[in-house]
Amino acid sequence: MGTHISRTVAEGLAFMNFIGGRQVESVSGKRIDVASPSDGKVFASIPESGAQDVDRAVRAAARAFEDGPWSRMPAVERGRCLTRLGLLVEKHGDELAALESRDTGKPIRQGKADVTATMRYYEFYGGAGDKIHGDTIPFLPGYTALTLREPHGVVAGIIPWNYPLQILARVAGAALAMGNTLVVKPAEDASLSAIRIAELAHEAGVPEGVFNVITGYGRDAGAALSAHPMVDYVTFTGSTLTGTAIQQAAAVNNRGVTMELGGKSPQIVFADADLDAAMPVLVNAIIQNGGQTCSAGSRILVQREVYEAVATGLAERFSKLVAGPHDADLDLGPLINRKQQERVAGMVAAAEEAGIALLARGSVAGDAPAGGYYFAPALFGSVDPEKAIAQEEVFGPVLAVTPFEDEADAIRIANGTEFGLVAGVWTRDGGRQHRVAKRVRAGQVFVNGYGAGGGIELPFGGFKKSGHGREKGFEALYDMSATKTIVFNHG
Ligand code: ADP
Repeated sequence: MGTHISRTVAEGLAFMNFIGGRQVESVSGKRIDVASPSDGKVFASIPESGAQDVDRAVRAAARAFEDGPWSRMPAVERGRCLTRLGLLVEKHGDELAALESRDTGKPIRQGKADVTATMRYYEFYGGAGDKIHGDTIPFLPGYTALTLREPHGVVAGIIPWNYPLQILARVAGAALAMGNTLVVKPAEDASLSAIRIAELAHEAGVPEGVFNVITGYGRDAGAALSAHPMVDYVTFTGSTLTGTAIQQAAAVNNRGVTMELGGKSPQIVFADADLDAAMPVLVNAIIQNGGQTCSAGSRILVQREVYEAVATGLAERFSKLVAGPHDADLDLGPLINRKQQERVAGMVAAAEEAGIALLARGSVAGDAPAGGYYFAPALFGSVDPEKAIAQEEVFGPVLAVTPFEDEADAIRIANGTEFGLVAGVWTRDGGRQHRVAKRVRAGQVFVNGYGAGGGIELPFGGFKKSGHGREKGFEALYDMSATKTIVFNHG
């Protein structure tokens, strides 16, 4: 927690804010200790920034937007900086994967996969910014009307702890490609890679003040950033409740927001599906990153005829899953912190108390350090879709399996939560593939596959409480810019 002189400062793993192209300490000098979720031991520290630090970073970003070359630079030049950043991410891939994995507890192969996706985001947006253009619009005689896509100005990016590298990359890639400047507040539990990326961006030629990072708690630094009057747009990925708080703060200044929030994403398995192909994907969609993924496939809806076969197959696989430290690279790592571990355990205990059948439990490796935040995966069967474990986001390795009767029943259950982020549909029937994909209320639908967290080219975002606005792909470039209409009266 916040201490003036941290052990880690002495050890040399004291990370700094990155403001105006330089590493800077917070105004108060207070620090937050950073523990590895794998053993609970402190190995680094970050600044505990407050409103004054936020103000400094926002002013640096505003100055860079007004005076600097970034917003007026040809889009192709900005793109080249992002492409170079992608190459630097690749060059420092092992270091970034190791840092991310240690900081979040995720297995090292997931850290490496995150680095690959991060590199692809900067590469994609490096090449995309100069392909966005406006329209000319038929208007009254004697007039020519056209539109330009203009940057908002200072974009605030509030980043969660589950995929820090990737989520920062999709925010920064799109925001910077369109000529915005950026102030990033990574999560207090996973800030290290963001600081490193800001340095690499600088090395790639992104001018000073364009890419700023301030670390600290959400209630202090995060709240001050989302309410800052010089912030022009806020983009947030995280929990639904925090999303509401950030929108309220941004509303005071009437600023636009992109909100990528929670999910309770279903995978619907029809009786005619290729079950052998489906089974590993169904398991991976909830086990990847320990289930700490907004788009985790946390509900499986199975047609009655194949329910027993699917439930039995899932139980077999779940009972073999093992959680362990990040560097052991097992099926899953620990959860991010003690609070999450207790929360997930509480939800599983409540489901058991409610009489829901626990079909299988995975395990925690015997040699996993006692101080780590481990949780053995849990599989629940015959779950009534109205129960909490089938309605609420757990954000852990917990899967609820529910039988259904027919197509109409499947769609009703799939759409029967407050969320609408991703869905999977497994069937060989082509007509049904189209019908169900269209009727399910979700921002992404995968047919005979599932892509939790994947696909940098694919627009991504929610319906209902899962949020609004779209990230990834070209769509993000529209969110990260505004249309300006110019009308010439030439007679
Ligand atoms: P969790 O509840 O697991 O910590 P959050 O969705 O609250 O997840 O956190 C995601 C990000 O939002 C983090 O960077 C966190 O610091 C930030 N945050 C949390 N609360 C607020 C807030 N009131 N205002 C702005 N940012 C916040």
